[in-house]
Amino acid sequence: MPQSDRAATQMPEPPPLHQPRPRQDVPFSQRRFVPRPVVDVHGRRRDVALAAPHPKLQQVAEWLTPAFYVDLGRPCNSACLYCAVPPHEDAQGFLPLAEVASIVAAGAQGQRCDKAILIGGEPTIYPQLNEVLDLLAEQGLSNHVLMTNGLRLGEPGVLGELRARGVATVHLSIDTLDPHTYDLLSRSTGKLAKQVQALQAILRSGDLNCYLYTAVTALNLATLPDLLRGVAKLAQAENVEPPPVILALIKPLGDALRHAEQLLVDPVPAAQRVAELVQLGDSLGIAVGHRNLAACLAPQLVDRNVDYYLDDYSIEVNSGSRLPFSHVEHWFHLPACQECGHRGICPGLYRGNTERFGADAYRPIGNDGLKLA
Ligand code: SF4
Repeated sequence: MPQSDRAATQMPEPPPLHQPRPRQDVPFSQRRFVPRPVVDVHGRRRDVALAAPHPKLQQVAEWLTPAFYVDLGRPCNSACLYCAVPPHEDAQGFLPLAEVASIVAAGAQGQRCDKAILIGGEPTIYPQLNEVLDLLAEQGLSNHVLMTNGLRLGEPGVLGELRARGVATVHLSIDTLDPHTYDLLSRSTGKLAKQVQALQAILRSGDLNCYLYTAVTALNLATLPDLLRGVAKLAQAENVEPPPVILALIKPLGDALRHAEQLLVDPVPAAQRVAELVQLGDSLGIAVGHRNLAACLAPQLVDRNVDYYLDDYSIEVNSGSRLPFSHVEHWFHLPACQECGHRGICPGLYRGNTERFGADAYRPIGNDGLKLA
């Protein structure tokens, strides 16, 4: 990485040794599957509240909506240091195939979603992934989204099979193109090349939508300019447009909270870094969006806030009825937020961040970037 990028971020050098993959906390014999009572949904906003929505991010929102999540369980072939749902804490294992039908019924019939979002853990290691895709096809659903670390996508035939069975969009989690940083973040050794192969295979495929989802942590922040440059180069080599990149400030949950000292970034300087990356992305032809960054910290970037393009809520599996988004339990608003023009659309703050970095910087703004009613 160029020294100038590391100096610009003022981030500490990463520690020299990476941590080993943690052992399973819960022995296999003691795991018991408990179905989730709700299914999360990305609904499509009929009318995005932004004054000037970014066309590429609007397209990503169309790929992602209206869709319900099928969470295939925690097992994963990686062990990201920032994982909000760490696989080694898994007490349940994979989602039993028998549970899939009720999830699909709640999503497709109750709330009229036309596609599913397959998530884990890592969905490509789910032993009955083809059966899940066939079940979705039987319900007339197609153009699904696969949220994956990509480690299996470079294997011969894997992408083609997924495409043939209804996957249309790959949400590819790539956090860095620096091998050392990748090893630190993934608690593994030497697997970055597989992610790069996956991206190349997707770009080459010509018929898959793709966006990159990049966790922003203190360990990889300085490598992000090179990630953008590298993605632009890979796309150029395949003679295609580079995929959009969504920079997601990590959620202070699960392992990210456990390793907060190493990982969490103060949202205030992070907002400045994201603004620089947005600008770099523009110069490279990459649409850069962000998540988990409140509008008041970066009012000039509200058109890049992916949350503003989605209508998130949950569904009760038994009744099919709509509920508030299940993740709201992790967010909160400050009393002052009542005065903010973004109060109705801003997801709010993570307690783990404000406890660590304070809340003084979060101050009500007007309707910056929003369409006036
Ligand atoms: S609602 Fe609160 S956190 Fe969100 S942008 Fe406004 S002041 Fe910031």
